[in-house]
Amino acid sequence: MPHTLTETFIGETQPQAKRIGIIGGGQLGRMLALAGIPLGLEFVFLDPAQEACAATLGTQIIADYDDPAALQRLIQSTDIITLEFENIPMPALHLTNAQTRLFPPPKALEVAQDRVNEKSLFAQLEIPTPAWRAVDSLAELKKAVAHVGLPAVLKTRRLGYDGKGQYVLRGQDDIQAAWDALGGTALILEGFIQFDREVSLIAVRSRSGALAFYALSENTHEAGILKLSISRARDPMQGAAEAHARRLLEALDYVGTLGFEFFVTANGLIANEIAPRVHNTGHWTIEGAVCSQFENHLRAILDLPLGSTALRGASAMLNFIGDLPSRERALAVPDLYFHAYGKDARAGRKVGHATLVVASEGERDVRLGELLALVTI
Ligand code: AMP
Repeated sequence: MPHTLTETFIGETQPQAKRIGIIGGGQLGRMLALAGIPLGLEFVFLDPAQEACAATLGTQIIADYDDPAALQRLIQSTDIITLEFENIPMPALHLTNAQTRLFPPPKALEVAQDRVNEKSLFAQLEIPTPAWRAVDSLAELKKAVAHVGLPAVLKTRRLGYDGKGQYVLRGQDDIQAAWDALGGTALILEGFIQFDREVSLIAVRSRSGALAFYALSENTHEAGILKLSISRARDPMQGAAEAHARRLLEALDYVGTLGFEFFVTANGLIANEIAPRVHNTGHWTIEGAVCSQFENHLRAILDLPLGSTALRGASAMLNFIGDLPSRERALAVPDLYFHAYGKDARAGRKVGHATLVVASEGERDVRLGELLALVTI
């Protein structure tokens, strides 16, 4: 029988929500669908790209994220809506939220879309951040440098990702160049943190308030793009990261999976940013944890019991950026799980990843070279 809204969307008692709308149809949407199909879920993606890589796993509505007619189609054809990236225009989110169930809540997106909102919330929740100042003019940049000190990082408040829209200032002479590079849009200046490591916590909160956390992931970036994530069982920072995330999730009445990135310093954790969605640094959970970040996101928004975040072993996840190694080469590595996103090769584009899962961190460290060799010529 054809599915219609009235058949399945009948308020709080709706027992078997089945059709999930996802705003965005990239690799994160694709991995959400790969996790949800075995649960009997169906997916509709809203994405302006002609060939969004998630589309083969469901139905795609090809339109801009804030196209009112497209949003109506998405709302009418699904039971519940979620998203796979954070920079969706707020009016589209408010419109969706007024008409159907949307998770995570728009408030979380409002915070994550603007680095000043994000830092302000961290401060309110007593989560340590780098020193920072909002910057809207060259005069304000000079004042901000005096307050924050050097070195510092000038960033766009909005729409920055993978290190884009950032300028590192090392001396007073860099002020003008930084302003020339980024001025004209709303900015934030942050103190440059001399970190020992970068870690992220993948956290999940369900509609009924149940919480789950994965082992910290230790992350390495190259040219601002995540290259490698390593699961860290028993990391000394785990408890502090969970305490920060718990306060944040509860303050936002958050529902779904969230990625929380931190710098590890001699003085403990310093918050960098949150991503109100499933996160690249949690891809290792697909094979490296009992229930993945993707399945747990779906469980959380459907108010199903959360799955175990226990480790199945020690994991290392390597991103393929630009192009993929051959399948033959990747699959020749024992204990390796290969993921190709079905995207065309393009410089700087995440086109796939591989995760190595082995019995112990010791073995993982020994075998890391086999994984890394996939991206060396
Ligand atoms: P972001 O887009 O803010 O996550 O920044 C991308 C990467 O730039 C981070 O993962 C860090 O490696 C680096 N970075 C960003 N902000 C800072 C900072 N305040 N101090 C030092 N490194 C930073």
